[in-house]
Amino acid sequence: LNRRLAAFGTTIFAEMSALASSTGSINLGQGFPDTDGPAEIAEAAVRAIRDGRGNQYPPGPGVPELRTAIAAHQQRFYGLGYDPDTEVLVTAGATEAIAAALLALLEPGDEVIALEPFYDSYAACIAMAGAVRVPLTLRAPDFRPDLDALRDAVTPRTRLLLLNTPHNPTGTVLTPAELAAIAELAVERDLLVVTDEVYEHLVFEGGHTPLASFPGMRERTVTISSAGKTFSFTGWKVGWITAPPALVSAVRSAKQFLTYVSSGPFQYAVAEALALPDSYYDGFRADLAAKRDLLADGLADAGFEVFRPQGTYFITTDVSPLGEKDGLAFCRALPARCGVVAIPNQVFYDDKSAGATQVRWAFCKRTDVLQEAVNRLRQL
Ligand code: PMP
Ligand code: GLN
Repeated sequence: LNRRLAAFGTTIFAEMSALASSTGSINLGQGFPDTDGPAEIAEAAVRAIRDGRGNQYPPGPGVPELRTAIAAHQQRFYGLGYDPDTEVLVTAGATEAIAAALLALLEPGDEVIALEPFYDSYAACIAMAGAVRVPLTLRAPDFRPDLDALRDAVTPRTRLLLLNTPHNPTGTVLTPAELAAIAELAVERDLLVVTDEVYEHLVFEGGHTPLASFPGMRERTVTISSAGKTFSFTGWKVGWITAPPALVSAVRSAKQFLTYVSSGPFQYAVAEALALPDSYYDGFRADLAAKRDLLADGLADAGFEVFRPQGTYFITTDVSPLGEKDGLAFCRALPARCGVVAIPNQVFYDDKSAGATQVRWAFCKRTDVLQEAVNRLRQL
């Protein structure tokens, strides 16, 4: 293993999901739903396979039906116009979109400012690109970005801001005022922005505002999203970017040598999913809002300090009130203690002290599963 990757080991999601299956624990660790998305969308995938649509390599940028549906989605929800032929690229999940964007846009030695705790692939992809990560730390209890610190972090080597809103794992949703300040800085210092908005439809307070909608941003922003989260088909690995033509073309240059193409028949099904009526999106959010409340109240009852998320399907807690000093040790011991798995946030921080006692719980699970997990955690 080369030096760039050696520091990263095995992802925490693989480690904790393996622990959940070997111990038969309730898995509130890795973020995937325990109920599949809409049956008619699953049927659409089966139909595509049967009808021979997408069983062979799809076109490099993605099938036209899906690119058109992605552009229509950006218009419908945010009033953002993108040309399906030149400004949309389908990827193998958001994960590939992140990797391809960073590999395409960074030179070795470039600095990337990213909100920490970071989603784990960010740090690894910045390293694979030979670039340098510069964290902007979100701190408990509010997890807001310090905009003065952000301004101070920009140097002549800064090439790119890597944002994530709604933010995994903290649940922070950047406010329009925060986004406007970030946008102003990006324009002033002529920075590129890659913004990971995979939880765009899981905002429980206020709404989601894409960074690309701010003045001067559309031309410098790569926006990333994914069907995994919005439609509860994380195994299909259908993601996408929307960006101006030059940025799409750059990201595509990297993408063609990573996977070339992926997910043929699933692309047709996701095209249908994106066109689902508002009632689907509203119902999905309302269901998860109720689950957020159930798990947040249960965790508080069990003695954790709970940071109620504004978005995503994760709750960050602090385990100190239970007398615990280390979230990673706590998560490794938890399955044996009570049959529940969670994720230690410290692995997403460079500043380990900022996240040492934080633990994340996923609530994209059936109500009875969440209730049983809470019952078990109350025994701690
Ligand atoms: N970004 C964030 C913030 C995530 O939480 C995830 C996990 N779903 C991804 C990217 C990866 O998404 P995908 O499964 O579509 O590759
Ligand atoms: N995004 C999911 C999470 O944060 C996991 C995805 C993965 O396993 N790579 O839990």
